[in-house]
Order: sequence, then structure tokens, then C-alpha cells
Amino acid sequence: MKRPTVHQAHGICDAVKARAVIVLALYDDHVAGASYGETAKLCKEAGYTLDCIVDDIEQGRTPIWTTREAIDARRLRLGIEDGSICSKCKQPVGGCDCEDEFRFNVAQGSEYDVD
Ligand SMILES: [Zn+2]
Repeated sequence: MKRPTVHQAHGICDAVKARAVIVLALYDDHVAGASYGETAKLCKEAGYTLDCIVDDIEQGRTPIWTTREAIDARRLRLGIEDGSICSKCKQPVGGCDCEDEFRFNVAQGSEYDVD
């Protein structure tokens, strides 16, 4: 695993004329980063932001290797499977007026309140 260096982050900061820059390197199951700021204060602040981003990724709060569309599609599929989302209008079953065949997931044997 080759980590980005502060020197490389400095180069990007100069290239885009930013006051601070954060570089993230993503591996299959790991993330590594470097940060740079124009001044000691900016450097310290960018370093703190980098620490927060890396921590969020490692704790699973910030996803990597996926897209919003993939997450939404998975959430929709699981909702239809567990009977909480209507398979026709893709809305929560409590707020839709579709026929029961779409609202009630027979395959999973899910139940919901019709009223
Ligand atoms: Zn519906």
C-alpha cells in the first residue's frame, strides 16, 4: 500500500491554488490520506478534517465503493422484501393507495395494517 505524502498534497494544493488540500487513497478495504495547509493553522485544521473523514469511512458512516443509486436500490429491494414498501409505486405502504397485491408481499408473508 502506497500512502499519499504531504509533499504530494502540497503539489495538488499549489496546482489548484487552494489554501488547504486533503488527498485520500482508497484501497479494497482501507483508506489512507495526507493533508496540507498553507499555514500551521490551516494545516492543523485540514489534518483534523482528514482524521474525521478517515474515521467516518472506517466506521462505515461514509460509504466507499458504492453509489447513492446502489444504496437506494438496495434499500428499495429490502423494503419490498420486508413488506414496508409497495412494489408498484415504491412508496411506504402506509401512504399508498395501490391494490393489496402490490402492498402485501405474499412471498415473505409480511403483514401490515390496511387502515
Ligand atoms: Zn403503492
